[in-house]
Amino acid sequence: MTRFTVGGLVGQRLPIFINGTFRDSAGTHFAGFDPATGEEWCQVADSTAAEVDEAVAAARAAMQNPAWRDLSQSDRGLLLYRLADLVAANVENLARLETKDNGKILREMRALTQAVSVGLRYFAGMADKIEGTTIPVNKPDMLNFTVREPVGVIGAIVPWNSPLLLLNRCMAPALAMGNALVVKPSEHASAAILALAELVTEAGFPAGVFNVVTGRGASVGDAIVRHPGVNKIDFTGGTSTGRLIASAAGNALKPAMLELGGKSPHIVCEDADLDRAVNGVISGIFAAGGQTCVAGSRCFVHESIYDEVIDRLVARTAEVRIGAPDAEDTQLGPLALWSQVEKVQGFIEGARSEGARLVAGGGRPGGLGNGWYVEPTVFADVRNDMRLAREEIFGPVLGVLKFRDDDEMIRLANDTAYGLASGIWTNDINRALRFMRRIEAGMVWINTYRSPSVMSPSGGFKESGYGKHNGFAAVEEFSRIKTVVIDYSGKSQDAFVMRVAK
Ligand code: NDP
Repeated sequence: MTRFTVGGLVGQRLPIFINGTFRDSAGTHFAGFDPATGEEWCQVADSTAAEVDEAVAAARAAMQNPAWRDLSQSDRGLLLYRLADLVAANVENLARLETKDNGKILREMRALTQAVSVGLRYFAGMADKIEGTTIPVNKPDMLNFTVREPVGVIGAIVPWNSPLLLLNRCMAPALAMGNALVVKPSEHASAAILALAELVTEAGFPAGVFNVVTGRGASVGDAIVRHPGVNKIDFTGGTSTGRLIASAAGNALKPAMLELGGKSPHIVCEDADLDRAVNGVISGIFAAGGQTCVAGSRCFVHESIYDEVIDRLVARTAEVRIGAPDAEDTQLGPLALWSQVEKVQGFIEGARSEGARLVAGGGRPGGLGNGWYVEPTVFADVRNDMRLAREEIFGPVLGVLKFRDDDEMIRLANDTAYGLASGIWTNDINRALRFMRRIEAGMVWINTYRSPSVMSPSGGFKESGYGKHNGFAAVEEFSRIKTVVIDYSGKSQDAFVMRVAK
């Protein structure tokens, strides 16, 4: 019987997980809060520098352990299948732990945890299908081929909004390719990742392949990024943190993949199916309380349907059911952090003073105790140069803007520092495909929104980061190519001239 349940962890200190063993950290501990009540529910360890060293050493040793290093690709896949089954069998518990930590609605956390299991199976199947290539190098009597190897120790730095799903985008392909991991969960959401560590052990992964050191970003996260024993960083989080990490990793000449913030444009054309489009816009901004990197926070509406779309958005927003995240009919739960509530309120005040027109929400709902709730909020008459349209809010706040023609729409949509996701609603396929070509965003959704797949590469352009998760692209991220050249001519070559092709 696992102790990693909400009931089992209430009032307890969360352990850390190094080299296959859970233990109490020697570091200080800080409070983990339940956003639905605003109350402390557990204690999280701020791992020490020595514990980070130990976790990295365990991961490095695992990379040299024949039980992992020499495990066949198919057997690596089998371990991942086993883990997928264990995650599937524990969806309810894992989802409840995530909801307790980050306040996102239980129905969504169940769906995302199920998706973790699907993702593990996808990469399990890939483990023994990754091949090198043979290359015709214009040199008779020479054979040139490539092999793909694991990168080594991956430092995974995970945010609070969807800890398991976001970790798994790194973990599943990294394990499929034979890497080892040192994971730092967000200080605000560590419990589910520790519960996952228990399942990793149960699945049969050798000790040291997966390690979890909890704690603060500025100490534990930074130590992982700078650690000479860590070969690559996988980071999802805010753009300003991403800059710090990219700079530290760059200084250490260590590759990093960064999935950062967004200010994604969500377009409604005059020829769209408005029922579906408005539903898509609502989902794009209010699902997960807007706390997703792909939130469609800038909604561009054609001027001929602008008033009608505003009316529909206001009506739909009024229907959003706000409440406890574990209630089955809740659509919008609390925000994950009190600092997010203050930040969102600051944006709402700022938008008002910049002249945007508040048409829905704008306050905090009553009757929900001390939970960290904010009303779903819509501003009309937003200009693209307002702060509301330029900075990532990470909350349930939509800005609606008007466009006259497609050239203006594309220009405004691209006039942002970010380039993560985008969406367009239109029944004109030519128009949709022209938009797809011209938009500067890593993901384009046409007549749908927030529809990712583990099989589909995802990642941003511009200040939304670099590197691709999911799909075959992820296997490339978590492996490296070694080139091998064999001369089978049996002859000596000119010792002083490089053997380039003639
Ligand atoms: P951060 O970017 O600070 O957090 C993401 C992760 O990075 C956490 O594990 C954090 O640790 C860690 N971290 C923080 N500083 C460092 C550092 N110097 N070195 C290494 N790791 C570090 O996000 P926040 O939680 O502060 O949220 C800020 C904003 O970021 C949000 O408002 C939102 O705009 C954006 N964001 C985007 C996400 C996305 O999915 N793209 C996800 C989360 C946030 P810890 O939290 O433990 O201190």
